[in-house]
Amino acid sequence: MTKPSDRLLGLIEFRPDDAWQHVVIAAPEKCRTCQGKNCLRVCPSAVFQWDNIPDHPVLVYYKQCVECGACRLACPAGAVKFAHPRGGYGVVYHHG
Ligand code: SF4
Ligand code: SF4
Repeated sequence: MTKPSDRLLGLIEFRPDDAWQHVVIAAPEKCRTCQGKNCLRVCPSAVFQWDNIPDHPVLVYYKQCVECGACRLACPAGAVKFAHPRGGYGVVYHHG
C-alpha cells in the first residue's frame, strides 16, 4: 500500500529509531470496544492499521509517523500515547 507520505517523497525523510517507539497504544483493551476507530481515519501517514477482525489489535507502524499529533486528540479513550521522537530521529522536512 502506498502511504500518503510517499507522495511527498523527496520532501520528507524518516530517520527511524529502532530502540524506542514514540507512538504507542498504551491501553489496547480500549480498542476492542472502540466503535469509530478514529486513529485509522485521522492519521495522514497510515501509521495505524487494523484488519477489521474484532479481536485483533490495532497495529502501530510508528516509523512512518509525520508527528502531527492528531491521533492523540482523536482517540476518544485516550489510549494513544504520543511523544516526539528522540533527538536525531523521526521525520525531517526539507524545504526549498
Ligand atoms: S481511536 Fe483509540 S481506542 Fe479507538 S482503536 Fe484507535 S487507539 Fe484504540
Ligand atoms: S502523530 Fe500524526 S502521523 Fe503520527 S501517528 Fe499520530 S496521527 Fe499519525
